Amino acid sequence: RTKKESRNSYRFFSTHMQVQTARNLQLVNALRHAIALDQLAVYYQPQVALDSGQLIGVEALLRWQHPQLGFISPAEFIPLAESSGLIISIGNWVLEQACQQIQAWKVAGIQGLSVSVNLSSIQFRDPKLPALVKGFLERYQVTPECLELELTEGVALENPEGAVAMMDALYALGVRLSIDDFGTGYSSLNYLKKFKVYKLKIDQTFVREVTSNDEDQAIVIAIIQLARSLGMKTIAEGVETPVQKAFLLAQGCDEMQGYLLSKPMHSDAATAFLLTYNP
Ligand code: C2E
Ligand code: MG
Ligand code: MG
Ligand code: MG
Repeated sequence: RTKKESRNSYRFFSTHMQVQTARNLQLVNALRHAIALDQLAVYYQPQVALDSGQLIGVEALLRWQHPQLGFISPAEFIPLAESSGLIISIGNWVLEQACQQIQAWKVAGIQGLSVSVNLSSIQFRDPKLPALVKGFLERYQVTPECLELELTEGVALENPEGAVAMMDALYALGVRLSIDDFGTGYSSLNYLKKFKVYKLKIDQTFVREVTSNDEDQAIVIAIIQLARSLGMKTIAEGVETPVQKAFLLAQGCDEMQGYLLSKPMHSDAATAFLLTYNP
């Protein structure tokens, strides 16, 4: 590489960084007002039992539609919400929406489903979280087992004792706790015996090639067996094909969600789906 080339590539990199930073600033500023301006919506993706096909719940997934910037992916704005601190108010808003939705579905005759909400590790470290969850359960008359909180392995990293205390406080409320994207984080398996985990969510990166890639297959089988030995349920994320579904069922995975069943839907579409779904 010549000196000139390196300088150019450096300049390119630096310009790209500036553009990124400018967009990030713009997004954070816009995100500050997104709730008040009614730009955020919670979508719901159904989950079913693999053997019976019965509906077991939905996952709440946040959507942001900005009038000028268009649709912005949570993969882009959630990290920005976390680094700016906005994730506390946004995450609490999602929790409230989910509880409100559980109540609305109960009125519509849809009962016994769980609604799982993604929890940022920053929310998880908020000492006010248990009281907040308790307040929503009471206000919307939600049966605690209907609310599931999805955590990532990262929550146990910084302060393991604090994480165990928070887990215990949430567990005491009767809500269910699951580990999202299981197998992709940095963690020891030690926390699994201390945490009262109800379900492991098998990450879609392992599911994608589960029928063609030997390593992915071995990992998925190991996760299912680990969960079973520890008395936890498993759900596979990102199931897109009947072949993946058949493999997971044969291996004893309990549940699935993915485009094969449905994409995440607006609340109205989700309601229609839940009312008309036939295994
Ligand atoms: P996640 O919690 O692991 O959610 C699963 C993601 O996979 C969702 O992406 C979902 O739309 C997508 N997905 C579901 N089925 C399929 C499939 O069959 N194929 C493929 N290719 N993708 C599928 P989404 O909605 O873009 O969310 C991305 C991530 O953003 C989530 O990953 C979660 O970590 C985060 N996120 C979303 N909503 C919230 C929220 O309310 N709070 C927090 N803290 N994080 C959220
Ligand atoms: Mg999730
Ligand atoms: Mg996931
Ligand atoms: Mg994910």
